[in-house]
Parts: sequence; structure tokens; C-alpha cells
Amino acid sequence: MKSRTGRQRRMVVMLSSLMICGALLAACQNGTEESQDPNGTGNTQQESDGTTVHFTEDKGTDGDNTGGDDTSASGNSGEGTDSESDNGSSGEEQDSSDDGNGATTEDPLMEKRSISALQTTIDAQSVVTNAESMTVIVNKQRSLPEGYEPDDLVEPNVPFSFDEPHEKRHMRKEAAEALEKLFAGAKADGIELRAVSGYRSYQRQVSIYNNNVKTKGQEYTDRVSSVPGRSEHQTGLAIDVSSPSVGNVLEEVFGTSKEGQWLAEHAAEYGYVIRYLQGEEDTTGYVYEPWHIRYIGTDLALDVAKSGLTLEEYFDEANIKL
Ligand SMILES: [Zn+2]
Repeated sequence: MKSRTGRQRRMVVMLSSLMICGALLAACQNGTEESQDPNGTGNTQQESDGTTVHFTEDKGTDGDNTGGDDTSASGNSGEGTDSESDNGSSGEEQDSSDDGNGATTEDPLMEKRSISALQTTIDAQSVVTNAESMTVIVNKQRSLPEGYEPDDLVEPNVPFSFDEPHEKRHMRKEAAEALEKLFAGAKADGIELRAVSGYRSYQRQVSIYNNNVKTKGQEYTDRVSSVPGRSEHQTGLAIDVSSPSVGNVLEEVFGTSKEGQWLAEHAAEYGYVIRYLQGEEDTTGYVYEPWHIRYIGTDLALDVAKSGLTLEEYFDEANIKL
């Protein structure tokens, strides 16, 4: 009995909301819309019974005075009053989309983090299951599938530190395009960068690793160099960058140069993060590399930069809250 009453009340609220929406739309179509809300935070209207209905806009879109977006505003109109009149129907489930809270907790960044969480993107052999994703995490504990090679490698049109053709001039298409924009942004700020090393095939990582072991020893090699299959360069999403001001070397000195500082400050705007941060060897597995940048997309990169987390921390399920 109670729930029926609640349902009826809700129907009334929905109907009256629809009528209000209709009236508003008609007003807009006639070109008579007036700015009721100079702050642009949403229109309000007094109903006959004295309740106030709020027409809220989506977060992130400014107040819209053009009249073009009113249909989206009307979609939320019923929810403001619903919560007040709906106390008796808490047991109903079929109307859950209409519950009084109205608030959607959707967070697109958290969704992306959740999809790419470390714990759900790895198989029992420690091979990643999302090799082709822009958010794939490869490190000393996480391998790419055997023989993995991206199928969209291209050569970004940026200055390199060498002239000859080479596989390391390549990156995946989306990362390459972002790199071009990054270099253009740097140039506009009077910053001269050089691309040094991008894509690295499994086979080439084998020879680099073996050569490092031979010349620098196993322990040192494991701190600075990846076991084949576990190098981020093999994803086609990472590239080492330096500057003529430091002789295009890949050393810590680049981090203190004005070019290295520009890169740390602006990389995220172009979808890149400084992958191996200072003092984070315990979580990333690598010493500080101010020259190694990794593409993950602009929205995530900006969020990562803001968080100050390494990618290992950022994509750890423990830090993802939906
Ligand atoms: Zn690198």
C-alpha cells in the first residue's frame, strides 16, 4: 500500500516535471527565453505548490545562454523534487534509476583507471592482457606477449639526435602525433628538444641487454635496462628525449637543464608523463630518468601529474575508487 502511494506520487511529480519541460522548450523555440539565471548555474522555476525545481547543467559545461542545450537540462528536472516526496518507497528496485539522490558518481578518469588496473590486466604468467592499450603498464614484473609488435608504428616528424633511418625513430601513431605537438609547443617556448630513442623491438632489446651485462655487469644492467619483453620502449608509447644543450645525452643532467624542466612541466599537456620519477625506484623499478617520457593520453597524463603518483601507483587497484 505504502509503495503504491509512493509510486503514484512519483508519477505526479514526473508528469508535472514533463509539463514544465514542455513549457520551457516551447518558450525557447519561440525565442522568448530570458536569462533567469545570470550566474549561469542553472534555471530555477517556482512550482505552484511552492517547491522549487532546479534545472541543473552537467558539470563542466558553463552556463549556456544560447538556448541550444535546454533539452539536456530538462532531463534532470524531475529529480530535485523527487527526493522530498519519495520516502515511502524505499523497497522498490525497479525504479532505482529514479531514486532521490539524483547524483551520478561517474568519474571517467576512475573508469579508465579501473579498466587498466594492474591487477586485472595480467595473466598467470605475468604477461599483460592489454598490450595494445594506451594505458598498458609494462615493467620488471609485467611482460608484453611474446613477439608483440605494435601494428601502427610511424615516424614522428620531429628532430632526432641522429640522421640515419632506424626503428627507434618510430612510435605508435597516436603517441607520434602527440609528440609532434609537444615538440612544437617546446619550440614555441624557445625550447630545443631532440628525440633520441623511441620504439625498440624485442630483438634489439635482447642485444642492448646482453651488451649491457657484458660491459657493465648484471647488477647495474638490471637497474637501468629491461629484460627483453619488459621494456616500455617495445610498446611504441615511450621515447627518450634530450637536448643539444646537454649534448643530447640521456643522463640526469638533462633533468636540471631548462629543456628538461620544460619537459617535466609541460609533458602532461600533450599526454605524456615522466615515467621514472626521482626517488621512486622502489615502485617503478628504475632509477630517475628525466628523459624517458611515456604517452598515456592527455586526460590521464594531466591527472597523473596532478596526483604525483607513478603509473604503478596510479593504476594500482588500491588507489582506484569508483
Ligand atoms: Zn627510455
